[in-house]
Amino acid sequence: MRIGAHVDSTDPLAEAADRSADTVQFFLSDPQGWKAPKPREDAERLRAAEVDLYVHAPYVINVATLNNRIRIPSRKLLLGHANAAAAIGAKGVIVHGGHVNAGDDLAVGFDNWRKTFAYAADSGGFGVPVLIENTAGGDNACARRLDALARLWDAIGDYEVGFCLDTCHAFAGGEELLGLVDRVKAITGRIDLVHANNSKGAFNSGQDRHDNLGGGTIDPELVVAVIRAAGAPVVVETPGGVAGQAADIDFLRQQLGTESHAA
Ligand SMILES: [Zn+2]
Repeated sequence: MRIGAHVDSTDPLAEAADRSADTVQFFLSDPQGWKAPKPREDAERLRAAEVDLYVHAPYVINVATLNNRIRIPSRKLLLGHANAAAAIGAKGVIVHGGHVNAGDDLAVGFDNWRKTFAYAADSGGFGVPVLIENTAGGDNACARRLDALARLWDAIGDYEVGFCLDTCHAFAGGEELLGLVDRVKAITGRIDLVHANNSKGAFNSGQDRHDNLGGGTIDPELVVAVIRAAGAPVVVETPGGVAGQAADIDFLRQQLGTESHAA
C-alpha cells in the first residue's frame, strides 16, 4: 500500500522525503490557470525516482460544459497535462468530473466527456491514464453522486478510464462512505487512487473543504475502511504542511499496518 501526499511542485521528491511518502501528487502548472505545462528540467530525475508520481490537472478544466470557450481549451489542457505527466513518468493524471451549467442537459455533459476521449484518441492518445475524480458540490455535476457517475461511465466506459475516489468529496457530496467502494466499483470496475481527506463540511453539504484525518466531520475509521476496500494507492490532500500531512500518513500506516517504501 503506497501512501503519500499532494505537495508543492518545485521539488516533489524533497517533499516526499520530508513526509516519508511513497507517492506524491502535484500540479504541473497554475491550478487556476490555462497555461500549458512547461517541460520540467528535473524530468529525468523524476522518471528515475522510486516515489510514484501523480499529476493533478488544473481546476479550471471542465470538459463536460456546454460552453465552447471552456470545453475546447479544457480538452487541450487535459491532453497537454497527460502528455507532460508521461514525460516525467507519472502513473496518471487526475481531473475533476466537471459539470454543466444550470438548465443545461447533463446528458450532453456526459457526451462531451465521450468526445474528450475520442479527441484524445485522434490526437495520439493520453500519455498516461486519466483518473476522473468525484467532486463535492453542485447540482449538475458529472461525478458527484453515483447515479451521475453511472451515466458518465455508460458514455466513456469503452475507453481506458480510471477513477480517483476522494473521501471528502464523497461525504460532502452526499454519498455514505460505508460500502462506497463496492458501489463505485460496480460502476467503474476500478479505483486507481484514493484521495484520503477528512471534511470540514457536513455530510451532503456540497462543500469542498479538506481537513486532516483526525479532524473534520468524518469518522477516520471510515476513511481507513475505504482505503482497505479500494486496495489502491493513497494521497492525502490535507492541510498543515509537512507536519500535518506526515501525521496523516503515519496515522494511515498505523491503521493499515503498512510501512514506508521510501525508508
Ligand atoms: Zn481530491
